[in-house]
Amino acid sequence: MDEVRSISADQFDPEALGPGAHRLRLVLPGPEGVSLPVLLITGHSPGKTLVVLAGVHGDEVEGIRALQEVFASLKPERLQGRFLAIPVANPPATRAGRRTSPQDDQNLARVFPGRREGTVTERIASILSETIIARADFLLDLHSGGIAYEFPFLVGYDGSDTEWGRASREAAFAFGAPVLWAHPTIPPGRSISEAARRHIPWLYVEAPGGGRITSAVLTFYTRGVRRLLAHLRILSGSVRPRPPRWHLLGEGDLDRAILSPTSGFFVPLVRVLDRVRPGQTLGVLRDSFGRTRASIEAPQDGRVVARRAFPIVAAGEPLVLLAHDA
Ligand SMILES: [Zn+2]
Repeated sequence: MDEVRSISADQFDPEALGPGAHRLRLVLPGPEGVSLPVLLITGHSPGKTLVVLAGVHGDEVEGIRALQEVFASLKPERLQGRFLAIPVANPPATRAGRRTSPQDDQNLARVFPGRREGTVTERIASILSETIIARADFLLDLHSGGIAYEFPFLVGYDGSDTEWGRASREAAFAFGAPVLWAHPTIPPGRSISEAARRHIPWLYVEAPGGGRITSAVLTFYTRGVRRLLAHLRILSGSVRPRPPRWHLLGEGDLDRAILSPTSGFFVPLVRVLDRVRPGQTLGVLRDSFGRTRASIEAPQDGRVVARRAFPIVAAGEPLVLLAHDA
């Protein structure tokens, strides 16, 4: 049971492994020797496949632990279908504890569907797309604020008027988050944009971050994954949809956030989920003497969905992300 089998990523075939719990190491082609850990449980009866990714950004640690704990708690004889989890989707970035890969400085959540002959990050994206996401009936990608950002407990879903968009919305209500965020369109390069391209419904999760895993955060992830498994009928039991307290709308792109005009020490003057008016001061950037170097103002009204939490910032880094109420 504790054994780990190494196989070439091209030879991964969950059907051939049969029912049961499997720990696998998918070895990627290339000189760097990168491999992806797989936690696979194939149920004793057929059903859907839930694919779950964590650690796409290497400083977002909550989902990694949540997937290890969900895997340990699931019994193959109780499953109808498959739980296919990649707890560390970006091993070079996770080893470094960084959002991006130290090997090529790329952000894995910007390069999907990747390239087979590309950089390490592009090759990881390519294997995840063709070998893992391609097998999904549903994709869940576990993120968080990581070291530098703060989000509320949030689930983002596909708000498009499509079959997979409607399935994504239903699953978002089943997950049971206090904040839901509908994305009518999503920028390219994400795992979720790759799922949408394949007409696979998807969700992603955010949480406060900070580099420490509290029991409240861990429970949010593990309970949500189990509720989603039940919603997809992979686990038995009924799931009552939970209407969110906040329902947001808009593009969820941290790259489109309000960016820092200068380096400095950021002092936020708003909290996550605050409503802000155009021109409202969201925070200030100070120099080492405590003098204000720049004042950050809201360009439009909206609700704060993420803010910079780690105060030391460089010019061009995101400070505040605003969304609209749905
Ligand atoms: Zn992330």
